[in-house]
Amino acid sequence: MADCLFCKIVAGEIPSTKIYEDENVYAFADIDPQAPFHAIVIPKQHITSAAEIDSNNSALISKIFEAIAKIAKQENLENGFRVVNNCGADGGQTVGHIHFHLLARRNLAWPPG
Ligand code: AMP
Ligand code: ZN
Repeated sequence: MADCLFCKIVAGEIPSTKIYEDENVYAFADIDPQAPFHAIVIPKQHITSAAEIDSNNSALISKIFEAIAKIAKQENLENGFRVVNNCGADGGQTVGHIHFHLLARRNLAWPPG
């Protein structure tokens, strides 16, 4: 997607601090971290939001969760972590490329508010 911020990050057109990368998935440090560890985990392929997941692209979503488990080991998040997906306007989504926040290294409140 030509005008997508996270597609530009995947393409290297906008700089990011890489945390993890494989064939399908890219993870980078959130520019406005909400926890001592805050990564954004995305598919390299553009999917707009969780509302667009279907049988054609859901395999990619499982790759993201495989990557999250690898990142948790890589970053020694043995105390646990939280995965958040904001979807659409009411969900608080501000970037229209599906992404999963991976938050850790502090006690995360529940319910999140
Ligand atoms: P959301 O509000 O769920 O759409 O999350 C978008 C996230 O992207 C926010 O946590 C932002 O801080 C983060 N973000 C926006 N621009 C950048 C950027 N250039 N590099 C890293 N993170 C970014
Ligand atoms: Zn995109």
